[in-house]
Amino acid sequence: MVKKIRCAYCEIPEIRERAIVRNELAWAFPTNIPVVPGHVLIAPVRCVALFEDLTEDEKKAIFSLRDQLKVALTKVFQAEGFNYAWNEGKLAGQSVPHFHLHILPRKDGDAGITEYEPRKFLYRPGSREETPESELRAVSKLIQKELS
Ligand SMILES: [Zn+2]
Repeated sequence: MVKKIRCAYCEIPEIRERAIVRNELAWAFPTNIPVVPGHVLIAPVRCVALFEDLTEDEKKAIFSLRDQLKVALTKVFQAEGFNYAWNEGKLAGQSVPHFHLHILPRKDGDAGITEYEPRKFLYRPGSREETPESELRAVSKLIQKELS
């Protein structure tokens, strides 16, 4: 019988062995399906799914690796910009239930090779007309109500 994998990052040794850099609480490794060259992931050592499951120290550890990787990725891939993202929940595309921050070094022309287009991930793909100011203010008010 084939063992069912709950978390690829914890249970597949090849992924841990792929580590680029680590500190006490987090480690970084290249994703097996990069959307641009140099696409890496940073994950906490502890297996937790959501950002709010992370301790303050784990968040610091993750952002510390981000700082280091930004410098290295800029040199190695001549990055001119970066995308940082995490998917939360199955519906949002989180395929591994272990928090991971995506880091994508970007440079002019890479979209042609990878077809990576951030706008395709937005809630309103296709037409990119500006939303009327009144609608944006209504959205602000709705969210503010829950914050107060
Ligand atoms: Zn895990």
